Amino acid sequence: MPQKKRVFLLIAIVAAILAALPGLKIIADALRKEIAYQFVVDDRIWFTVSQKEKAALDRMLDEYQRQYLANIDKHAVIKKIDFAQKVELIEVKALPENIDTLATAKAKIYAVEDEAVVIEVKKGDNLWNLAKEHKVTVGDLEILNPDADPHKIFPGDKLVVKPFNPALDVIIELENTVVESIPFKNEYRKVNNLFRHQQRILRKGIEGEKEVSYHITLRNGYQKSLQIINEKTLKEPVNAIVEIGTRTTVFRGGRINYGVVHGKRISSLYGYRIHPITGKRRFHEGLDIAANHGNGVYAYTDGKVVEAGWNGGYGNCILIDHGNGLKTRYAHLSRLYVQVGQRVKTGQRIGAVGSTGNSTGPHLHFEVIKNGRTQNPLNYL
Ligand SMILES: [Zn+2]
Repeated sequence: MPQKKRVFLLIAIVAAILAALPGLKIIADALRKEIAYQFVVDDRIWFTVSQKEKAALDRMLDEYQRQYLANIDKHAVIKKIDFAQKVELIEVKALPENIDTLATAKAKIYAVEDEAVVIEVKKGDNLWNLAKEHKVTVGDLEILNPDADPHKIFPGDKLVVKPFNPALDVIIELENTVVESIPFKNEYRKVNNLFRHQQRILRKGIEGEKEVSYHITLRNGYQKSLQIINEKTLKEPVNAIVEIGTRTTVFRGGRINYGVVHGKRISSLYGYRIHPITGKRRFHEGLDIAANHGNGVYAYTDGKVVEAGWNGGYGNCILIDHGNGLKTRYAHLSRLYVQVGQRVKTGQRIGAVGSTGNSTGPHLHFEVIKNGRTQNPLNYL
């Protein structure tokens, strides 16, 4: 073969090989590809893991979801646990260099878009002014801080005002049944042998009990919705029977005489409630009586003032020791007319109704404490 022809043939062979290369690469790549799993969130690929890591990924996702079960009442029945987003694990064939490590997968799963905003309670703060300041509702604050008792937040306490926002949101649906108290009512009987500011208890009231079942949806551990699905009375309450006087005396303003204040109505009763999510029991230690701002607040009976001043969520507050293990507390006052150590008489004006501390509006929070334990004030008024 002449020299020239040999060169042409060589060029032709090299050209043919070059032309075939992409095809060869496709074949070689196809041979290198392995089964892997794409983690797809709302149709976007977040990462890909190898087949041998799939079980570890499943455990990681399970653990990620289960972190939100930690604060839930152990008696609650978990009905569903899922992601808020559409999450798919799609089997694909991928090149080794396109497969992510478990560490990358974990960083993506646990990614946080916005950190929580936590504030420290300062003197004079209450849930209502904090809610206003941070542009949320009091209900939001209660949901974000299920352990915080609105009556007992103190300077230095930490409160979440905005929850953290994870990249991957977890929705939990649960059902829980808790026992709650049914308050008793006062049945008033008018008698003309008592003055208008006097009353006498003929029969003490007894609280009832009910079983309440809730269906609750949580998003990243925080209550998203709460519905009562069933309610069953276990024990009917027994109403108190109270005689009230009709004989006219000095009128102090306000419609109803509760002895310690002239109020409009009872706005919150004494008793417990079990938090339907955490299962924790919270007590309302007193009786809230809605009344006009500035109305007089009167000593329950003779005694000695042992506290008079600011007391956290109670706001301006007075505690009177009546002896024999009996004490009474008057909270949220706008004015204090007595000092610590001072002796007071039954019906003596000690302060004025206000809305200081954790209070939605002017009212008297009245507590009766017998041997260190709060009692239902309705049995004492
Ligand atoms: Zn109260």
